[in-house]
Amino acid sequence: MTDCIFCKIIAGEIPSVKVYEDNDILAFFDISQVTKGHTLVIPKHHHENVFELPEGVAATLFAAVPKIATALQTTFEPTGLNILNNNGESAGQSVFHYHLHLLPRYEETGLYGSLWNEAQATPDLEGLKKYALKVAHSLS
Ligand code: AMP
Ligand code: ZN
Repeated sequence: MTDCIFCKIIAGEIPSVKVYEDNDILAFFDISQVTKGHTLVIPKHHHENVFELPEGVAATLFAAVPKIATALQTTFEPTGLNILNNNGESAGQSVFHYHLHLLPRYEETGLYGSLWNEAQATPDLEGLKKYALKVAHSLS
């Protein structure tokens, strides 16, 4: 896609600091470095978000994640690592070329939060079962 920043990075039209590349995927440091070693992993073909992502592309992308995460662990020696993917503006997506964030975690506070509040103290199991049937129907 011509106006996509990540397609331009893949094409070498704008600079990036690459950490891994093969025929199908590219991993490079996120410019914002939310935590030290913050890395993005992207498919080379343009797909906007998880809803558009073909299964084969997802399989190839995720297959590379353990080795990239392990290389980040060896290099930066974090105490943990989050894998994050935002889909849609309401979920915080700002670049509309599918990507995974690999966020090495240290004992820092305040740089990155992934905490949420429990909305339902008492789960509505009957309501959830009805939704489960709808999801299962949609998957079949
Ligand atoms: P998201 O908000 O999940 O869509 O994440 C997009 C990410 O892309 C942000 O964390 C940005 O810092 C990062 N980003 C945007 N432009 C560049 C760039 N030219 N090189 C590296 N990372 C970038
Ligand atoms: Zn793109």
